[in-house]
Amino acid sequence: MVWEERWHPLREEWVIVAAHRQNRPWSGGTLEHEHEVRPHYLPDCYLCPGNLRVSGQRNDNYSGTFVFDNDHPPVGLDAPENLQQPAGIFQNRPARGIARVVCYSPNHSLALAELTVSEVEELLQVWQEQYRDLGRRDEIKHVLIFENKGEAVGVSNPHPHCQIYATNFVFKTIETEARVGKRYRRETGRVLFQDVLQSEREDGRRIICENENAIAFLPYFARYAYEVFIAPKATHPNIATLSANELSDFAALLRQILIKFDNLWRMPFPYVMPLHQSPTDAGDYSGFHFHVEFHPPLRRPNLLKYLAGPEIGGGNFLSDTAPEEKAAELQAQPDIHYKHTAEKMQ
Ligand SMILES: [Zn+2]
Ligand SMILES: [Zn+2]
Repeated sequence: MVWEERWHPLREEWVIVAAHRQNRPWSGGTLEHEHEVRPHYLPDCYLCPGNLRVSGQRNDNYSGTFVFDNDHPPVGLDAPENLQQPAGIFQNRPARGIARVVCYSPNHSLALAELTVSEVEELLQVWQEQYRDLGRRDEIKHVLIFENKGEAVGVSNPHPHCQIYATNFVFKTIETEARVGKRYRRETGRVLFQDVLQSEREDGRRIICENENAIAFLPYFARYAYEVFIAPKATHPNIATLSANELSDFAALLRQILIKFDNLWRMPFPYVMPLHQSPTDAGDYSGFHFHVEFHPPLRRPNLLKYLAGPEIGGGNFLSDTAPEEKAAELQAQPDIHYKHTAEKMQ
């Protein structure tokens, strides 16, 4: 039983780990599994190849990945310039940026977990290109690449895809990580994330898997039950500078974690998956270490982690589970997707 507060060094905040409460009675919200078999192509899916989108644009008949500008962009280069001046101390400005969508595969029925290693690698190359292409523009200060997966996080279209918000500001969490990493570098000469990796290795219990160039672990300071970080072992401030070998090792590990997630309860595992990369505003980010974070909303197959008083009201997380136990659950999962095991047994 773990009942303590743990320091999150990247966000500089305390996480309350109250795992002694995890079996308290529960009669709250539950979640239906998404178990239906989906077709490979849907005529009315706005992400399937060749289909017409609301903007009137038609998707390419793509065979691998497919990138297009979001038809309902929250930020745009054509956002209104002439804004009404707000009262008093309030400030506003144009919502400038570029929003894009990246389809992982033409196959509507697949998830990232079900792609081959080379398909995942191709996707990582697209992420590299997008980061470079968007990041080099003067008006773009940061490129946020993320996937929302599953109805539990509000995704209505299951076609495998992620989104990119390239913005004229740096998202809050990245700004914090960048600032903290920079100060740590100045004070110690070291990269904070490398010291996190070193501490995870010293303990060892929360490392899920690793290969020559990449490592995946459930952090000591995890805020979500099944929170997992994947990172290259060498420090790269962003994905753009990963070598071919590093990229393929990263792809292999990303896929391995996704398969373990799905195998956990033999169901598509919902998550929010952001890439944490250095801002593109020409600052010094040598202390920033690129990583992918998974924030899965489920604590059990039918049990959502609700963000409430502590998280929304106070801004710090209360975790009901011990990271060491959850890491052990993931370590124990096989590396072959349950859907493929089922096929083999037929
Ligand atoms: Zn589709
Ligand atoms: Zn991060």
